[in-house]
Amino acid sequence: MLQLHSLLAKVGPKDRKLGVKARLSGALNITINLIKKNLQNVKLLLPCLQVLRVYSANMVNAISLGKSGAIEIMFKILAPYSKKNTSLLKVAVDALAALLKSKTNARRAVEAGYVPTLLALYMDWHRNDTWHRHTAIRKGLLGCLRNITNTKVGRKAFTEADGMRILYNSSSECLTVRTLDPLVNTSSLIMRKCFPKNRLPLPTIKSAFHYQLAHALASGPVAQLYSQPPGEQQHTVKSVPTGRTNAQLCIEPLKKVDDVVDDSDDNEDTEADTENDTENEEDEKDPRSLNDDIEKDINKLHPQKSPSRPFEELRVYERFFVELSEDFQGYNFDRSTTSSSSSARTPRTVIVPTAQALSPNHVTTQSSPVLCAPPKGQDPQSLLSAAPALQLDTLRFSKERNKKEEAEQELSHVLECVSLKTEESLNIDKQKGSPISTQRLTQSPLLLEGIAIRCLAGGGGGSDCGSEAAEDEGAVLEVPDTAQLLPLHDLDLYVDMVKGTHSVPQYTEVAYPDYFGHVAPTFREPLLERVYGVQRSKIFQDIERLIHPNDILDKIVYDLDITSCPVIESDGESLKFNSQFESGNLRKAIQVRKYEYDLVLNSDINSNHHHQWFYFEVSGMRVGATYRFNIINCEKSNSQFNYGMQVLMYSVQEAISGRPRWVRTGTDICYYKNHFARSSIATGGQKGKSYYTMTFSSSFSHKDDVCYFAYHYPYTYSSLKMHLSKLEAMRTPEIYMRQDVLCETLGGNSCALLTITAMPESNSVDHVCQFRNRPLIFLSARVHPGETNASWVMKGTLEFLMSTSPLAASLREAYIFKIVPMLNPDGVVNGNHRCSLSGEDLNRQWQNPNAELHPTIYHTKSLLQYLTHTQRAPLVFCDYHGHSRKKNVFMYGCSLKETVWQSNISAASSDLHEDLGYRALPKILSQIAPAFSMASCSFVVERSKESTARVVVWREIGVQRSYTMESTVCGCDQGKYKGFQIGTRELEEMGAQFCVALLRLKRMTGLHNHQHLLDLESDLIGTQPKAVSSCPTTYVMDEDEPSFLEAIDYSAESNDEDGEADNEAGAGGREIPETPDLRPERLSDSGSGHDAWKCGPVASQ
Ligand SMILES: [Zn+2]
Repeated sequence: MLQLHSLLAKVGPKDRKLGVKARLSGALNITINLIKKNLQNVKLLLPCLQVLRVYSANMVNAISLGKSGAIEIMFKILAPYSKKNTSLLKVAVDALAALLKSKTNARRAVEAGYVPTLLALYMDWHRNDTWHRHTAIRKGLLGCLRNITNTKVGRKAFTEADGMRILYNSSSECLTVRTLDPLVNTSSLIMRKCFPKNRLPLPTIKSAFHYQLAHALASGPVAQLYSQPPGEQQHTVKSVPTGRTNAQLCIEPLKKVDDVVDDSDDNEDTEADTENDTENEEDEKDPRSLNDDIEKDINKLHPQKSPSRPFEELRVYERFFVELSEDFQGYNFDRSTTSSSSSARTPRTVIVPTAQALSPNHVTTQSSPVLCAPPKGQDPQSLLSAAPALQLDTLRFSKERNKKEEAEQELSHVLECVSLKTEESLNIDKQKGSPISTQRLTQSPLLLEGIAIRCLAGGGGGSDCGSEAAEDEGAVLEVPDTAQLLPLHDLDLYVDMVKGTHSVPQYTEVAYPDYFGHVAPTFREPLLERVYGVQRSKIFQDIERLIHPNDILDKIVYDLDITSCPVIESDGESLKFNSQFESGNLRKAIQVRKYEYDLVLNSDINSNHHHQWFYFEVSGMRVGATYRFNIINCEKSNSQFNYGMQVLMYSVQEAISGRPRWVRTGTDICYYKNHFARSSIATGGQKGKSYYTMTFSSSFSHKDDVCYFAYHYPYTYSSLKMHLSKLEAMRTPEIYMRQDVLCETLGGNSCALLTITAMPESNSVDHVCQFRNRPLIFLSARVHPGETNASWVMKGTLEFLMSTSPLAASLREAYIFKIVPMLNPDGVVNGNHRCSLSGEDLNRQWQNPNAELHPTIYHTKSLLQYLTHTQRAPLVFCDYHGHSRKKNVFMYGCSLKETVWQSNISAASSDLHEDLGYRALPKILSQIAPAFSMASCSFVVERSKESTARVVVWREIGVQRSYTMESTVCGCDQGKYKGFQIGTRELEEMGAQFCVALLRLKRMTGLHNHQHLLDLESDLIGTQPKAVSSCPTTYVMDEDEPSFLEAIDYSAESNDEDGEADNEAGAGGREIPETPDLRPERLSDSGSGHDAWKCGPVASQ
């Protein structure tokens, strides 16, 4: 028998079926009995245990062996620290760990009271194995604990046996020895798993703000929120005490409460479910889910231009295209006298149509003298017919200015009040000669009546202040002359714009960064290198809260749920937080340690999730101290914060010292799953999900400073209005620019539509015809409010289009640009990340937008439908977005062929005819724009994206070049900016490069010879634009990041070594989330790519 077992021990590991064979032949019990009888016979025991270890790897065997008493036997063999028989112990502990993978066995072990035994054994080896010669046995013991704690009873027993403290203390002692990392990591895994799940410290996960929709939704998540009983509505919920008592209520109330922790995993099925959850849920479904998502319905892939709306209905949109029927007869084209920019306003009054000027007959009378051949196929009637009632006013920012006088009177009144109140502090400030009073800084942020406060901060007394203000408000506060650095910025204009901006919380404050503006720093900001062990140390600090609860302050310092007083008065021991300003998004701040704060972000309005964007203010900081901030309710399973991205910080003291700018900041940054449970209501029914923590540390260099932190460079709706107003002032007589109000949003904000092109050379028939026949380019941005980078790219595009460069002039002569620069003003204003006020993602509404609920989408789509009807569908449609999980800038387009090929549907692809034109623009961009990466582009149509702008404009409007352009929030891993985080300069440059690319596209399409164009494009595709993307077909993103080998997994429910290894690799080395085909971002507006073929030389396929 001994020899037989020795032989089996050698053969066993090589035969995968050995375990099954042994069971079938009844050999399991022979081995068990042999072990039982020879517990003292080490020589015999060793091969038997080796064989048992092999047997136990099979789950059915493990259960069978467990019934035969194998676990009890193992505990007889296991022993306290000893230098003897260590190899035997190693095999025994491994066999036990294998047996305990079976939950039945795990429960058996718990019932037998072995959890304290295992902990005691582990501690004994930990204490005595001082030279770390037997870490394998120690790791084996932890492996047993890890498997036992996969069961709920196991976790309970572990906690009751003080396992948290034991593993925490032992791990802390191991931290300094690098070779003990596996022990620390496994301990950390167990502790995270057993860490009691908590609710978020909120009365409800529904947004702190509520917007009452006039039209209730019939179905969908928002309707669900609405259909909850009134008792669950916002304000009443606030009085419900927090705590986990809700979980103990009976089932019925559970369904109603929106944020209950689903921690009842008593029944086997639920438990199995939750335990199979891996950290990165998207990974799990890959790559299958991606293939599943590819559109396979060939009918849906064929553009369906057949318009479903009668033209009569669309005719009202004619008023947004007056340029298409303008005859310019009343214009003075003598540029010799009007070409200076000072006269830029002269043509404006002529060009810009107003409600008064646009009588219903306007179009007809104006266009009749010029008998212009309509563009091919265009219905001449559409040009000549009268526009129906033109009631929409055009967006005229001058109106705002007209109100200014009134506002100033109001302000001077406020000024008096404020001045009186703070006279004393003013005098102090005057003595100090400080350009900005500390009083004011602690009173931050700037109120809407900011001019007044700004004025008093200048150090003058009441009257003094008043006179100065009257002379020159800008000179009072010594802010940098941003006007020189920022031609589109104007402090007073900004405040004016804010006054016309409508927010649900009715903000009256202005954040300093938006007021002062942002001047991109001249230096580049490299991606942050990750410090080894940062995640582990952060997690240990979290666990420490449980071990030493008395060290935790748990002091609420900011709370939006206390509507009367969200900013809690500081006693000087805490930071002061605020985010009650446009685009602000902080719901709660809790001081947990002297220099550490837990932060909770607000959900999108009328929603109970979408937390990612943040923008808040802190003051009352101590210079030199390092503060740790934890945003504890992040949702995505991974983040660029794990791959070099830093948060953005703006210091007011820096700004008034001449450096008004957002800078990348923060150390010890990491993103990991935490112990706050997510309600299944907010996860679409998935149970057992947790939130994620984004943690960063920062210190402050100025006393009495006010600083702001943001997810990305903020860009408010008021900023857009200010920029548009300034852009309008940049117009020269050569530029045709018009601003219309496309519609009003639910929140009462105007959605702007811009028209930019060149004025015709003259009002001759030829010139006017050339003008009218220019192809259209349709651009939009910021449908997702959290994607502020899209606005910076759009700003670059707009500035380029309005610039005086010859390229810009050629571009304007080549095209008519129709631009909706902000598709979701309400979301932006209210600090949403993803949705509009209806609580819906507007970029999922394009198939069937509702005029009441999704006005901006409804009317934008109508504009495009109008254009299709009049045979003027745009040459290019592009919607600007930001991408939170990939680097670089890239595009998603739509290709019938590429989708068919990828989906393997049985259509004879040789029958499919498709122009390759859709590839030209991204290809040009990859050649000229350093941040752009062709390798990240994809042209596959996904089913989950069928209601996005890109897909609908392609399919229904028939625009072949219909794109989503995604810009990273993080940085680049190729090209000139490789290794650097992206800044506004690079984003704006991208917007300008997009314009240049359109000019190149024009030169190609202008050739008319279609075959020639194709040749050109395939030439283009064949060229090697940038060295980095030289081999796109084999592009993998494995070089994307410096790897870090810490498991991101917080729940650690993976049951075996392999799973764990996968997790580690996924989190670190291979950077799964970066790899498009492994990680479809389901929430993203556009799908992920398919590396294998997406950038291959298509012509050859
Ligand atoms: Zn987006």
